[in-house]
Amino acid sequence: MISVHIENGAAFVRHATMPKPKPGFVLIRLRAAGICNTDIELLRGYCGFRGRPGHEFVGDVAGPADSAWLGKRVVGEINLACGACEWCARGLGRHCPTRTVLGIVRHPGAFAEFLTLPESNLHEVPRQVSDEHAIFTEPIAAACEILDQVKIAKGAAVAVLGDGKLGLLVAQVLACRGASVHLFGHHPKKLRIAALAGCETSASGNLPQARFDVTVEATGAAEGLSSAISMTRPRGVVVMKTTVHEPVPLNTAQAVVNEISLIGSRCGRFEPALRLLKSGRLRLDEMISAEYALEQAPEAFAKAQEKGVLKVLIRPGA
Ligand SMILES: [Zn+2]
Ligand SMILES: [Zn+2]
Repeated sequence: MISVHIENGAAFVRHATMPKPKPGFVLIRLRAAGICNTDIELLRGYCGFRGRPGHEFVGDVAGPADSAWLGKRVVGEINLACGACEWCARGLGRHCPTRTVLGIVRHPGAFAEFLTLPESNLHEVPRQVSDEHAIFTEPIAAACEILDQVKIAKGAAVAVLGDGKLGLLVAQVLACRGASVHLFGHHPKKLRIAALAGCETSASGNLPQARFDVTVEATGAAEGLSSAISMTRPRGVVVMKTTVHEPVPLNTAQAVVNEISLIGSRCGRFEPALRLLKSGRLRLDEMISAEYALEQAPEAFAKAQEKGVLKVLIRPGA
């Protein structure tokens, strides 16, 4: 089968042997996958990664023949948990200390004709949801995670800092849940997507001070956190979505004096993401910038790194 391999900053297309699902796992034939910023970081050598990336996908279960999932169109949660530890017992396999992660940590990713995942990671995709939209399930789940962590009242003043893929999804998800969302970004084209979804938007030049109940920091830059804290009103909450790999310089006095809560936020549950996708309320078509065949993965990675580009899709045999 055709598979994508990254190593030393380059992406290659290779022939690989078909994966054999372990007991409790299924074989999935890829329908479509999306390139995420994490994939680009892996390409650039984050964590010394080499191997097959890809964790945003939709596919058809192709085996084993006796699986109850056979033939179903699915998306899959990306953390493969041990199922036996304290975190797993609490239903928080996303924090299992011995987990592997699809396409990121010791489990081959989705950028291939076939991949494997445990049955317990699967979710059937509602028929109303297209393949192109289904690949957004994982990042939408990451946006929905905020709702599991922070109580956001209807009409609450929420700022989202950063108009990249995640910032745009967070803004849309929180607007769907009744928050009054203001997205701050740099790209008129991207801000327009949020405006179509009912958000207020501004170019992030002069940021308002101490105005928002909740500020979501999704700039992808180390400096974003200080701005997020200063935009948040006393007793407000800052949700941290940016992972940077170097220490972040931060004047903590403002957070202390204004009693602001800082909350780290990563992956989320797939169920609310699939419900939102099924509702058709998210503007996703505008977020797809380009589409490539699996065989053109190196070109797809190059495109995904261009300025202003949002989601790049990969499809086998396209
Ligand atoms: Zn991702
Ligand atoms: Zn565990």
